[in-house]
Amino acid sequence: MDLTAHPVLSGFDALAASLVDLYRDLHAHPELSHAEFRTAGIVAARLSDSGFEVTAGIGGTGVVGVLGNGDGPVVLLRADMDALPVREDTGLDYASTATAVTAAGETVPVMHACGHDMHVTCLLGTADLLARGREHWSGTVIALFQPAEEVGDGARRMIDDGLYDRIPAPSVVLGQHVMPGPVGSVYASPGTAMAAARSIQVRMFGRGGHGSMPDQSIDPVVMGAATVMRLQTLVSREVSPTNPAVVTVGSFQAGTKENVIPDEAVLKINTRAFETHVADRLAEGITRIANAEAEASGAPKQPEITDLNSFPLTVNDPDATRRTLGVLRGLLGADKVFEIGPVSGSEDVGDLATEIGVPLAYWFLGGFEVGDGNPLPTNHSPQFAPVIRPTLDTGVAALVTAALEWLD
Ligand code: ZN
Ligand code: ZN
Repeated sequence: MDLTAHPVLSGFDALAASLVDLYRDLHAHPELSHAEFRTAGIVAARLSDSGFEVTAGIGGTGVVGVLGNGDGPVVLLRADMDALPVREDTGLDYASTATAVTAAGETVPVMHACGHDMHVTCLLGTADLLARGREHWSGTVIALFQPAEEVGDGARRMIDDGLYDRIPAPSVVLGQHVMPGPVGSVYASPGTAMAAARSIQVRMFGRGGHGSMPDQSIDPVVMGAATVMRLQTLVSREVSPTNPAVVTVGSFQAGTKENVIPDEAVLKINTRAFETHVADRLAEGITRIANAEAEASGAPKQPEITDLNSFPLTVNDPDATRRTLGVLRGLLGADKVFEIGPVSGSEDVGDLATEIGVPLAYWFLGGFEVGDGNPLPTNHSPQFAPVIRPTLDTGVAALVTAALEWLD
């Protein structure tokens, strides 16, 4: 990587040590979705030190910094701030031992198991370099730090809280996500990039009783099990073989004891699809199948079906993404920058672009040393730990370079 590629990047070396400290601090102090209070405070303070005009508390804990620097395009750079209820098992000296209490009152371990601490650090470094090097560009930079990517509604809440009434409308939205790929590499899908996801809870009602007298009961375990099996036919029988889709029942809870027939069963279902009409078809199918299986069992009432969360389809603008990958090739080398197809993970960054009809260019950033033959830990794994440098170097350089491509 050529850090002298642009004079704005030449300040990176002087900044690197403080960014490493920041990353370690964020990593050791993760916060759950919509509870990113400490993180948002650090972000707001650093943005303001860098000379950005800061608005905090958008959509809860969202923070936006605006740096106007004469006429020119408005470029929005986005990072997400939240962590996950995962118990860290990396053995790092800056590992998290944090816990938090969920809305349901449960105490859970918390970990930056998806690398959002890296996204925050890279964007703060980028913001600072762009501010210091402002004689080299003109336009407006917006550094946006959103809450709650992991539950799919952080960007939406910022928009609904008047985000675009408070900041200039950007002409492009840029962002990146660290992934289990080789450090120094960047990859993106020009077009559909990530799946639409929905999580749905189905609560099925039976009639409880003694395990020895099933004839006196309506068994929600059998009702739920039949539903789980029938749901498998959504992908195999109802979705076109040319459209990839996923239906996973990740949780099935019923009963307490082997000889007691419980009176309800709760299924939690997650779907992924790469076209909105397919996502809708899956949701409709879940409702139809759950209702029909309840009916088939003679349930006393219809299931209660609740949406837990949903993520929009992430669609990169093909031209904007290829243009961005082009300048990243110049920075990182053609052998480090890859065009890929869609991935089955999901994101809500697209909401920031589709809300105002501007292009999105969103890329993945490798953050791991490969080569010892062991599989890399995936995002959300208790072992997920990107190497700080040079992931940080690549992440900052990529964001700065992409931003400069879109500014004047
Ligand atoms: Zn994640
Ligand atoms: Zn993530």
